[in-house]
Amino acid sequence: AKAERRGSCRAFEASMDEAAQEKNQLEQDFRVAISGGELEVHYQPLVNLSTGEVECYEALLRWNHPRRGLVPPDVFVPLAEEMGAIDQIGRFVLFEACKEAAGWPEHIKIAVNVSPLQFRNGKLLSTVINALSTSGLSAERLELEITEAVLMEKGPRTAAIIRNLRAFGIGISLDDFGTGYSSLSYLLNYPFTKIKIDKAFILNLHREANSRAVIRAVIGLGKSLGLTVAAEGIEREFERDYLRDEGCTQGQGYLFGKPGHARTLAISGAGTA
Ligand code: C2E
Ligand code: CA
Ligand code: CA
Ligand code: CA
Repeated sequence: AKAERRGSCRAFEASMDEAAQEKNQLEQDFRVAISGGELEVHYQPLVNLSTGEVECYEALLRWNHPRRGLVPPDVFVPLAEEMGAIDQIGRFVLFEACKEAAGWPEHIKIAVNVSPLQFRNGKLLSTVINALSTSGLSAERLELEITEAVLMEKGPRTAAIIRNLRAFGIGISLDDFGTGYSSLSYLLNYPFTKIKIDKAFILNLHREANSRAVIRAVIGLGKSLGLTVAAEGIEREFERDYLRDEGCTQGQGYLFGKPGHARTLAISGAGTA
């Protein structure tokens, strides 16, 4: 039995080894990806729930790995954060998305996700302003999506950066709303322009009275604070109808369109493709 245990222990160590090697390999591959054009930005529409018109696109990163195929951002964004490469990635998405959106009709905005770590070195504001001036996109057409994790970063700097971005005219969205902790005080203390209700609530809308209660409360709260309220993960018509009837402003989800390459978007009047 002892030998057996030693054996399984060795097997465990071997598999730990394999996992470490695998991760190492992925890190190496990712360095290549950053410099080698394997990263792509895809775009998913946010539509006005009353009119059905596209008002915004969210930029979503994709990694086209030569052997593994599409690696999801849930895997490589944390990897980039760990490797200290998130600033570089974040800059890439910002410049790419602003350049693309500059060719769209004026009324369509672009939303870009920002990692909490991008707030750490104090360069976010200058990077964003640089992306705007390089692309010629006006600040009013850019929205940055942040999560509560950003607001948990202690110190006054984060708050100051967010206020400066907002003062420039940039929109600030609170993403994944409802999944964290003290959102209510955050809502009052930061200059948000939009709340995005997390897709977990939409997924459970049909069978959970609690999810519907949260959705209704968030919509009411957002409205009374004068914010746009968006819901993500809308896949079915009754979800859209429910959210629209409750007064939710914008919807995002497979029902309206999956994330796609810029050239596949049917944007009327778009300049670039
Ligand atoms: P997120 O910001 O909450 O983005 C929404 C996710 O929901 C996206 O996953 C989108 O493809 C997916 N989604 C949209 N509609 C539906 C639907 O109807 N049903 C379902 N089941 N899913 C839907 P994606 O593209 O895999 O991105 C995952 C996460 O990775 C994002 O979550 C975001 O946190 C992160 N991410 C993506 N791009 C970037 C980026 O450029 N920078 C940073 N820092 N994070 C990013
Ligand atoms: Ca987002
Ligand atoms: Ca989200
Ligand atoms: Ca999310």
